[in-house]
Amino acid sequence: MSITTKPCQYCGSQQVEAPWTLCQDCRRRYAKTLHQLRRNMQLLQRVARHEYKLGEPGDGGKPSGGEAPAPVNVHAIDLLDEAESLLQDAWCDAGAVWSDKWQRLIPRMQTHLAWLCRAHNAGRFLRQLIKMTQRIEPLVDRQPRTRRIIGVCPECGREVMAAKGESLLLCKCGNPINVAELREQSQAKAETIHLTKTPAGMSEWLRENYGYEVSRKTITDALRRGKLPSSKPVENGYWEFNIREIVSFAMSRNNR
Ligand SMILES: [Zn+2]
Ligand SMILES: [Zn+2]
Repeated sequence: MSITTKPCQYCGSQQVEAPWTLCQDCRRRYAKTLHQLRRNMQLLQRVARHEYKLGEPGDGGKPSGGEAPAPVNVHAIDLLDEAESLLQDAWCDAGAVWSDKWQRLIPRMQTHLAWLCRAHNAGRFLRQLIKMTQRIEPLVDRQPRTRRIIGVCPECGREVMAAKGESLLLCKCGNPINVAELREQSQAKAETIHLTKTPAGMSEWLRENYGYEVSRKTITDALRRGKLPSSKPVENGYWEFNIREIVSFAMSRNNR
């Protein structure tokens, strides 16, 4: 009796014996992927139900009140639907004749991993499931990390904050933000960006967004003494601050 071996559909580097279509390493990878995907989908579902707050772009400056969280949740629900379809397709490819909602389907798949790793298109589905897990990841990741303003959402104008290592964010308006791209665009514009705030509001903004402690009084004094020459009074105690100027002022105060 001859044993048929073929390259693993996912990594291509290991030979596998029929009926397997994935090698042992990739079977483990499949198990890990299902585990992570399930966790990410559970968190994303909580995002969709407002139970879970995204660690977020846009917390810094809220333009003209009127929060609009709905698009984020619509996006979350769409993504959950897309992930569910993908899981059902993978499950079907493994020869299953019934399907279910993802909440019940994933545990079922986890206990029948061997079926999945013998499926006709196991490699393709594993690749797609890994991709899906990675797409959801930045939307549910709220590890406390230092976030810095990287720019302004081109769709809604909210300030977007990102931590090191983040590459994709979802603005509160639902617009996906490419961090590297926005950072680049914003640097070019930084010189001309102004913010209208009271000195107290600016003090709070600097603390929240940059972690700089500069009191309202320090800012008022600096304005009075002309230490912030690009900042102009507007009305009712509001000033138009030049971001670059006020941030470098705050930096110099904090480095003392
Ligand atoms: Zn493999
Ligand atoms: Zn936005």
